[in-house]
Amino acid sequence: MKERLLQSPVFQMASRQFDQVAEFMELPEEIRERCKWPKRLITVTMPVHMDDGRTEVFFGHRVQHHLSRGPVKGGLRFHPTVDLGEVAALAMWMTWKCALMRLPYGGAKGGIACDPRTMSGRECEKLTRRFAAEIMPFVGEEVDIMAPDLGTDEQTMAWILDIYSTHAGRLVPGIVTGKPVELQGSEGRREATGHGVAFLAMRALNKLGLQNKVATAVVQGFGNVGSYAAETMAWSGMKVIGIADVTGALWNDHGIDVCALREFTEVNGGVAGFPEAETIDPAELLLQECDVLVPAALERVITEENAGKLNCRVLAEAANGPTTPGADLILDQRGDVFVLPDVLCNAGGVTVSYFEWVQNLSRFHWSEREVLTKLETMLEGAFERMLHYAHDKGVSHRTAALCLGVGEVAEVKKRRGLFP
Ligand code: NAD
Repeated sequence: MKERLLQSPVFQMASRQFDQVAEFMELPEEIRERCKWPKRLITVTMPVHMDDGRTEVFFGHRVQHHLSRGPVKGGLRFHPTVDLGEVAALAMWMTWKCALMRLPYGGAKGGIACDPRTMSGRECEKLTRRFAAEIMPFVGEEVDIMAPDLGTDEQTMAWILDIYSTHAGRLVPGIVTGKPVELQGSEGRREATGHGVAFLAMRALNKLGLQNKVATAVVQGFGNVGSYAAETMAWSGMKVIGIADVTGALWNDHGIDVCALREFTEVNGGVAGFPEAETIDPAELLLQECDVLVPAALERVITEENAGKLNCRVLAEAANGPTTPGADLILDQRGDVFVLPDVLCNAGGVTVSYFEWVQNLSRFHWSEREVLTKLETMLEGAFERMLHYAHDKGVSHRTAALCLGVGEVAEVKKRRGLFP
């Protein structure tokens, strides 16, 4: 019955991962149930006047996975395939991620089923503002704090902040993170997720005895996360030889000029047509020989079909849920790919979101250097905890990272007890 409510391949995947971890940790049944199921599942509808005069009704969801360790925190995505199950899965992963990073948050996620690529800026703004109004009774700077995700950005957060603050009668900067710096956003938040991905990829190369300066990388997705991951890796001396987005895939053996590509995509809306690289089949891109492969777009792109054919040393999971459990088994058996699991690899975003929220609540502003130094210290701590656990228990990096996250939540649930 409960599974049926959240029917979606992504939720099944998150659920299966949790069950395996709970089994390995021998969590008591009662704690297992309480950790697994989301606390609040909210669905709202937003009627919007479209530019052509029609009124279209959109569905939006917000799932607050659990509130035992503090307010909930998580992104808001705009994508055509968003459904409640997918949002619940992403909220669950956020829970383990926040706990792994020792942030005082539970996990949440939001999503609106829409295609921002086919909507005008005005339509996106109206949809965002109406969603903010509909969701207002369920969020707050001490309750649920949103951030950008797939298809949303700083501007989306600014509109949400505006609606919430207008109704509150005062500026409430802590209601969202990932907002523009002029609106009390944090220095370094825009690049935080990608910066964290690149930092961890370099730590992994270092553990394998490989040098950044001679390493190559392939990146799928050139949005917020993928572009900053590519840029940071290129700055560190790595050669980014392949990059894809929804419009196509590029290849250049000598390395793609990431800054030039960013300027090109800002004008042209995607990587397709970039003159300083060849095109390549997007599915083939993932299989090319490289040191670091960074899936930074959608879920379930590393599957049982392609996991055996990956030709990378490090798989840096910048996207959420890019690897299916079947593919995971294959990677475990191969043993030659250093996996940086999503809950750790993309945790730079929520960590700097946490810094932003702390700055907002304390009415203080940190420099970019302070932010990125603190970020690297926290990522390094979680990276070492994961490696230590994996080595100690003889498990994969993913199992180790999830066990550490789930363990923190289970302990809090046990300590707090059950009402009534
Ligand atoms: P974004 O919307 O800024 O960028 C998404 C990119 O993926 C775009 O370049 C798009 O063209 C590309 N893409 C979409 N479909 C594709 C396809 N079929 N093939 C190749 N590329 C495709 O989103 P983002 O914020 O960069 O998020 C990317 C991933 O990272 C998501 O899984 C998100 O949940 C995760 N994530 C984001 C953050 C953050 O701070 N933004 C934090 C943690 C995790």
